[in-house]
Amino acid sequence: MVLPGHLAGGYLATIALLTVFPSDLTINQINTLLIIGTLAGEFPDIDLLFFNLKYRHNTANRNDSHRNYITHIPFFWLVSSLIVVIIGIIFNSTFTKYLGWVILAGTWSHFILDSIEYGIRWFAPISNKRFAIKLEVPEKPTSDRPGSLKQYFHFLVQTYWKMSTFWLEIIVTIVAICILARHL
Ligand SMILES: [Zn+2]
Repeated sequence: MVLPGHLAGGYLATIALLTVFPSDLTINQINTLLIIGTLAGEFPDIDLLFFNLKYRHNTANRNDSHRNYITHIPFFWLVSSLIVVIIGIIFNSTFTKYLGWVILAGTWSHFILDSIEYGIRWFAPISNKRFAIKLEVPEKPTSDRPGSLKQYFHFLVQTYWKMSTFWLEIIVTIVAICILARHL
């Protein structure tokens, strides 16, 4: 899934969390949580930056994926979120506690969506096995540098639109926009 789907997923996960566990937070605090939760849907893809820098002058390993890095491990975000929640408990701050849970909801929505076809290492660091509902559509071999914009563009036009993820992404994004429009 690409940017719009992950942002929409993060937004929907945050809305669900705030609806199931209502709080006495102010409107401003809730809006701040919604923005952070939406962005958290994209946090795991921060590794694209490292990936791009790593292969800037080196095209050696074509089997490497940005999804091999630590920000694509659910356990990493579980620990990070729980640290924030514990800080909230220590300082008796409802907002900070919610902040921790919202980061967890947003980032894990990313992993659920990435588990449709790409596969996520749900049990890392214990096991490196990737779990996916469906096997990934093989990418057409190209001579593009891994992590480059050109490679990304070729992936979108040659492979991505044939994947179920693409169509699900459109649905998730439309649902998120409808809910957002109702709240505005
Ligand atoms: Zn991802």
